Amino acid sequence: MTQISRITIDTPIRFFDPLPEAVDTVIIGGGVIGTFAALYLAEAGQKVLLCEKGRVAGEQSSRNWGWIRQQDRDVDELPVMMQALGLWHEANDRTGGACGVRTVGVNYLTTSPREMEYFEAWVEIARAHGLHSEMMTQGQIADSFNGHSDGRWLGGVRTPSDASGEPWTAVPAVAGLARESGALIRENCAVRRLERSAGRVSAVLTEAARVACEQVILAGGAWSSLFLRAHGLDIPQLSVRATVAQTAPLPCFTEANMVDEDLALRLRADGGYNLALGDRHGFYLGPDAFRHLRLYMPQIRRTFAHTDTRYKSPAGFPDSWRTPRNWSAEEKSPFERRRVLEPAPDDSYVALMLDRFAERFPEISTPLPLSVWAGMIDAMPDAVPIVDRAPGLEGLIVATGMSGHGFGIGPGYGRVLSRMVLGEAPEHDLSRFRFTRFTDGTPLRVGTSL
Ligand SMILES: Cc1cc2nc3c(=O)[nH]c(=O)nc-3n(C[C@H](O)[C@H](O)[C@H](O)COP(=O)(O)OP(=O)(O)OC[C@H]3O[C@@H](n4cnc5c(N)ncnc54)[C@H](O)[C@@H]3O)c2cc1C
Repeated sequence: MTQISRITIDTPIRFFDPLPEAVDTVIIGGGVIGTFAALYLAEAGQKVLLCEKGRVAGEQSSRNWGWIRQQDRDVDELPVMMQALGLWHEANDRTGGACGVRTVGVNYLTTSPREMEYFEAWVEIARAHGLHSEMMTQGQIADSFNGHSDGRWLGGVRTPSDASGEPWTAVPAVAGLARESGALIRENCAVRRLERSAGRVSAVLTEAARVACEQVILAGGAWSSLFLRAHGLDIPQLSVRATVAQTAPLPCFTEANMVDEDLALRLRADGGYNLALGDRHGFYLGPDAFRHLRLYMPQIRRTFAHTDTRYKSPAGFPDSWRTPRNWSAEEKSPFERRRVLEPAPDDSYVALMLDRFAERFPEISTPLPLSVWAGMIDAMPDAVPIVDRAPGLEGLIVATGMSGHGFGIGPGYGRVLSRMVLGEAPEHDLSRFRFTRFTDGTPLRVGTSL
């Protein structure tokens, strides 16, 4: 393992390649999306520079639960995700297991008859796509916990081929592969602005130097909308805060990734479990939240009761009231002021996680949280990302708004992006992920989200 602790602003810089004068493609953002795109482009012989304002995987891509999930995917994302699973296994083999990818399955459990009907419908969708998912009986659920649960669930659904990975090590290991393939990677290197010539991108203006390029991929996670708006492009992206706790090692009572109405868990490679609440998240109100309120109404109706809304976001967050919305290439940008987006975790959530854990698994002694953290999930009104060329600015490709499930699908979109840059025919129908879908008059279709 190349990294055994959480990635924060205190993590030493590992990638600091010199900036060349010119490359073929610049990638903005060293999360799972940008890093896999860098790997595949470098392998295709492109001269690639990946700029990361803080640390590779310092934001969502190391803060997530670590699920690699096909189950309950939006139907338009499912083919990309099925391909991504194979690519994760490949990356894991190539990094000597540093991605921590293990086939453990994903189990959704429920106490609700209505949810059981939803699960049954999913099994049919999966079948139509050649994916094996199956319903779980109460006996199978009890077996999945080696008899250690309180047996509250009516039933469930599982996808045995689903997997988990280790987010603290996976993306940095893939960045190592990308570099071996010739990609240049530089941390502590914010891209402040794009330079345009004759209506197309001609260079990126980083905090250190100008780098000329033919194409740019913006994979900036929760920062993408702020970056685009400074260039006259508007996307309805917001962020929500999610809290995760890591327990001390426990006797292994289940290997599968599991979620029910209000608790989620995943067995970690170190023998502890990641715990999270499936039904709670935090939201900071800012100017973008008001601007995009209408588009988010369907999601707000669904999740309002589970959202803790705060009126003031911490300083320097992408949608904070005082975050500048425009800046020149010569001045320090908001991206350098917050190199790593590290929201404070919600301690009340952690107490609730432990209570819920104790109720469900009374025979397992209540775990001690070893570490607790939070991440800002970048969301879209329809819970699927934008993966498309930006309208009106030739040479710019946007891949953002992964809506809480981008870790698993990351290699799949990395491959999609590399093919886009290379001008190769897409392997999937990407029309659902088009940039203009919020403004071209098509009705909003909200995808599934966990
Ligand atoms: C708590 C939590 C649990 C989750 N659980 C799961 C899960 O189990 N499974 C799953 O599939 N997904 C999960 N997700 C979602 C998943 O982590 C994200 O969808 C995915 O990591 C997004 O990857 P990304 O590369 O788009 O963005 P990020 O990982 O956020 O990376 C974007 C990067 O861009 C950099 N950047 C931004 N602007 C600039 C700039 N101007 N210049 C240079 N760099 C810049 C940022 O510093 C950042 O590092 C979870 C997320 C969270 C927070």
